[in-house]
Amino acid sequence: MKAISEFYPQLQTAKKVVITTHQKPDGDAMGSSLGLYLFLKTLGHRVKVISPTNWANFLDWMPGVKDTLDFEKHKEEGIKIINEAELIFCLDFNILHRTKHVEKYIEQSNAIKLLIDHHQEPQEAAFDYGISNTGKSSTCEMVYDFIVESGHSDKITIDIATCLYTGVMTDTGSFKFPSTTASVHRMVAHLKELGLQHSIIHENIYDNFLENRLKFIGNALLNRMDILYEYNTAVMYIPKSDLIKFDIKTGDTEGLVNYLLTIEGIKLGAIVIDRDEERKWSFRSKGNFDVNTFARLHFEGGGHVNAAGGRSSESLENTLQKFYRVIKQYEQQLQ
Ligand code: 5GP
Ligand code: MN
Repeated sequence: MKAISEFYPQLQTAKKVVITTHQKPDGDAMGSSLGLYLFLKTLGHRVKVISPTNWANFLDWMPGVKDTLDFEKHKEEGIKIINEAELIFCLDFNILHRTKHVEKYIEQSNAIKLLIDHHQEPQEAAFDYGISNTGKSSTCEMVYDFIVESGHSDKITIDIATCLYTGVMTDTGSFKFPSTTASVHRMVAHLKELGLQHSIIHENIYDNFLENRLKFIGNALLNRMDILYEYNTAVMYIPKSDLIKFDIKTGDTEGLVNYLLTIEGIKLGAIVIDRDEERKWSFRSKGNFDVNTFARLHFEGGGHVNAAGGRSSESLENTLQKFYRVIKQYEQQLQ
């Protein structure tokens, strides 16, 4: 993988471009994809954002989202566009399999492949150009850097600023996590100078849910949480029956894991949700307990030091029992 800066001169020639990201894109995945999409269009490229799956309703207001293709819904069209692409940008993931059914078509493509990401252990061999920086708050911050460093600061519109702010906001927990560096605030200052309206973005993302989601959370906090004080750990488990009962949709469970870390002394929060195809784990930690390594070792996942995800093909009960077993190895580290 060559440095992304070596690619900048090629931005000047209009190309057919695909931008893709991880399945079930979150605010950063969608924000970075749409921010880059809007930017590349201003340079005259023909661009399509392909999301491997659907996305949460709370992202549906974003500029450019209506032009995004859901690969699971429009597979044939997606394959055709990928096959014709000259450039494929891969944003906010480190390993191609995070694009689910899109992986195969990216691998087969002869397009130039570029990576912009902040997760650990990128699959460098899969990309021609790229930048992977785990020190960055978000892929949105990296797309901002990409635009600025390639000499196009003047191309940042309010819509681009809105998309990029969204991902920085969601990936930093609204500017709370340690990843919120001075450069994050400098970027936001610049976007504000361009006229960014930030309050409306917070409302669009965080204050746009239905009543059922709040009741679902209430039920989860009351009935689906287990605190292991000896390990400073809290775990939550969501059976499929809850998802059905409360009519829970993609995105409704996002952020639930963060409640666990609000309990005094808790250093590790873990949640497992019984999704259709797999049991999906999310891990969050405080301090130096490394959930990226934990997820990699025990739950087929990865991510960052303080936020990672994983999965299991076992039953909810079995994967939960596995968690209770493996956590015993970490008693010292969690003190
Ligand atoms: P979440 O718990 O919000 O799904 O994910 C937390 C972080 O870990 C995100 O940065 C996400 O991209 C990453 N992540 C989630 N699941 C996986 C996974 O299965 N593998 C890897 N490598 N990263 C993951
Ligand atoms: Mn991200």
